[in-house]
Amino acid sequence: MGEPKSNRKRILTGDRPTGKLHLGHYVGSLQNRVKLQHEYETYLLIADIQALTTHWDKPEMLKQAVYDVAMDNLAVGIDPEVTTLCVQSMIPEIAELTNIYGLFTNMNKLRHNPTTKAEAIQYGMTKDLRLVRDALNAAVGYQRLDLLSGYVALHLKDSPFLAMLDSQEERVEVIKAILSNDSDAAASIVMRVFDRELGHTPDGLRLRNSDTTYIQFELDESADGKTKPLYTSSLTVRIPVELNALLLLESHLSSGFDQLTYGFFGYPLSQAADITFVRAHLVPVGEDQKPHIELTRDIVSKFNQLYGGGKEIIPMPKALIGDVPRLAGLDGDTKMSKSLGNVINLADPPEAVKKTVWKAITDKDKIRKGDPGNPEICNVFKYHKVFNQAERVAGIERDCKTGVLGCVECKGRLTEALDDLLAPIRERRRPYEEHPERVKEILLEGTKKARILGKETLDMVKEAMKIDYF
Ligand code: SF4
Repeated sequence: MGEPKSNRKRILTGDRPTGKLHLGHYVGSLQNRVKLQHEYETYLLIADIQALTTHWDKPEMLKQAVYDVAMDNLAVGIDPEVTTLCVQSMIPEIAELTNIYGLFTNMNKLRHNPTTKAEAIQYGMTKDLRLVRDALNAAVGYQRLDLLSGYVALHLKDSPFLAMLDSQEERVEVIKAILSNDSDAAASIVMRVFDRELGHTPDGLRLRNSDTTYIQFELDESADGKTKPLYTSSLTVRIPVELNALLLLESHLSSGFDQLTYGFFGYPLSQAADITFVRAHLVPVGEDQKPHIELTRDIVSKFNQLYGGGKEIIPMPKALIGDVPRLAGLDGDTKMSKSLGNVINLADPPEAVKKTVWKAITDKDKIRKGDPGNPEICNVFKYHKVFNQAERVAGIERDCKTGVLGCVECKGRLTEALDDLLAPIRERRRPYEEHPERVKEILLEGTKKARILGKETLDMVKEAMKIDYF
C-alpha cells in the first residue's frame, strides 16, 4: 500500500471504545460522519488508549469493544473503501507525538481545560473544591447538561427539592443560581416548582431567609387548606447550604489535582497527537469539545513557532462544529447507559428495542387512553421528533393532546419507527458479526495506512526539531 494521496481536506474523527454504540451516538456523530466521508478524506480513530485513561482497571473489555465500535461504524454506513479505520494503540507515532507535545505544554494549560475538569468530576476522579466549582461553571457554559445532571444525581440525590425538578433546564437554572449566589433567582425557581407541583402557590409558603448563604422555605399546612397530601407536614429546602456544605467537605477530603492520574490529566495532549498525526485540517465535534480543539491549536501554533522557523510544519486544525443534537435516555436522564435501561444500542434486536421503549417514561398525568396528554414533557414524543416522519409527529402531537391516542399505541409507533431505522443497520452488521476476521482485516489495513501518514508526520516533526540524528 502506497502513501495516501488526496486533494480533499482531511478530517479526523473517532470513538472511545467503552461499549456498543447507541442511538445517542448515531444522532450525535455517526450520522454526520457517514455524510462527511464522501466530502473529506476521513480517518476514523478508535481511541483505545484514551478509553484506558478512565477504564485502566478494565483492559480486558477493550478487545471486544474495539470490534464492536468498528462494527457499529460499518453498520451505519461507514465505507472502509472511503474511510480509514485505525486503532490508536497500534500507532506508536501517536504516543511519540504526545511525548513531544508534553515538552512545551505547561501545566496551566492542562489545568484550565474546562472539558477535562468537567470529565474529571463526571468520572468521580476528583473532588477538589476549585475543580468542582470550575467544572460546574464549565458544564453550564458549555451546555453539558449531562455532566450537571450526573453531578446532581451523584451528590444531591437525597435533596427533597431537587427530586421535584423534573427537567434538565430547571436543574441548570438552580445550579446557575447557586453558583452565582443569586438567592432571588433560586427563590423564583422554588416558587415556580411549588406552584407547578401543588397546582397553586400555597399561602403558607413563606420565604424565611433569603440571604446569600441559604434560602429556606416551609410549607405551613394550617394556613393552606388545599395542600396535597404529597407534602404531609413541612418541606424545608436549603439548596445552597447543601451544595456549599458538600463542597467544603470535599475540599477537606481532597488536596488539589493529586487524585487525577497522569494519563487522564494529559489526555488532551494525546488528543492533539490523534488529530495531528494525520495532519487533519478539520475535526467534527460538538460545542462542548471545542476546548480540546483550542488546546490542539495552541500546541500546533507553539510547535510551528518554536521549530518551524516561520514555516507551517503541522497544519492548523479547525473544529467543524456541526449541529450535534444530544439525545437523552428514554427515562429523560441525560446519562445514557445500558445498566440504567434507558438506552437502545444500534445492535439491539427488535425485542430489546420494544422492551426499552415500553419502559420509557411518558407524561405521568396521562394515565389511560382518553386522558389529554402533554407531549412536550414526554420522552417518547422527544424520540418521535427525532426518529419519525414530520407529518406523523404532527399527528401524534395532536392526538396525544386530545386524548385520542393512548401511550401504548404511541410507544408501538415509536418501536416501528426505530425498527425502520435499525433494520438496515442490523443487516449491514450481520456479515461482520459472522466474519469478525473481515473487521480485523479492515482495522489492520487502515492502521497500516494511517501509520504511513503518522511516520511521515513524525519524521517532519523530528527534522524540524533537529532530532533526526541518523
Ligand atoms: S400519547 Fe405518546 S406523546 Fe402522548 S404522553 Fe403518551 S407516549 Fe407521550
